[in-house]
Amino acid sequence: MDVTTLTDWIREYARVIGENAGYLTDLDAAIGDADHGTNMERGMSAVVAALDETPAPDPAALAKKVGMTLVSSVGGASGPLYGTFFLRMATALADGASATDFAKALRAGVDGVVQRGRAEAGDKTMFDALAPALDTLDAELAAGSGLAAALVAAEAAAVAGRDATEAMVARKGRASYLGQRSVGHIDPGAASSAMLIGAAATAFGA
Ligand code: ADP
Ligand code: MG
Repeated sequence: MDVTTLTDWIREYARVIGENAGYLTDLDAAIGDADHGTNMERGMSAVVAALDETPAPDPAALAKKVGMTLVSSVGGASGPLYGTFFLRMATALADGASATDFAKALRAGVDGVVQRGRAEAGDKTMFDALAPALDTLDAELAAGSGLAAALVAAEAAAVAGRDATEAMVARKGRASYLGQRSVGHIDPGAASSAMLIGAAATAFGA
């Protein structure tokens, strides 16, 4: 894997976020403050603008640019959380970028999200989509699947994880203020995270 494919992933994610900003904001309107789509769209548009201006020379520089841009352009919980995700990925990608390196970098990113947000499985957050996706990615790669096929399986796990948040009571973030009333709605961050893994499956499968 190289910086070109990783850049394709980020650009594909920005495209999908742009297409689904209304949907993400609707999800956030039900259990939050109706800004998740706007937040993510603002952030990913800024990322694309930064990449248009200066393409990233290598995988680590790319992830760092994405992380710093998200931290500086997105208000709300998701800016620092996604920003930390990519900044941690950047550190992990410094040693190279084989399929396993990529999986390890994603894992480092999720570990950063957990350190920052303290979310646990079942708290109804982005972690509930990312964690099963990365477990599936690791298992598929360990079983000998290629990266493209492993990412397709990881996307399915992310989507299942996203859908499972509907029945959960939110215990982190704004939605936790609603307590039991948060049940019956998909978590917006879990939805945008499933899109992140889906964009990887698209970019690496092409
Ligand atoms: P805000 O909640 O500040 O309005 P957003 O609406 O952009 O920010 O993002 C909300 C999403 O952030 C939630 O759907 C959830 O997935 C994620 N989130 C919030 N708090 C945490 C946390 N502590 N750990 C992990 N994810 C979190
Ligand atoms: Mg919000």
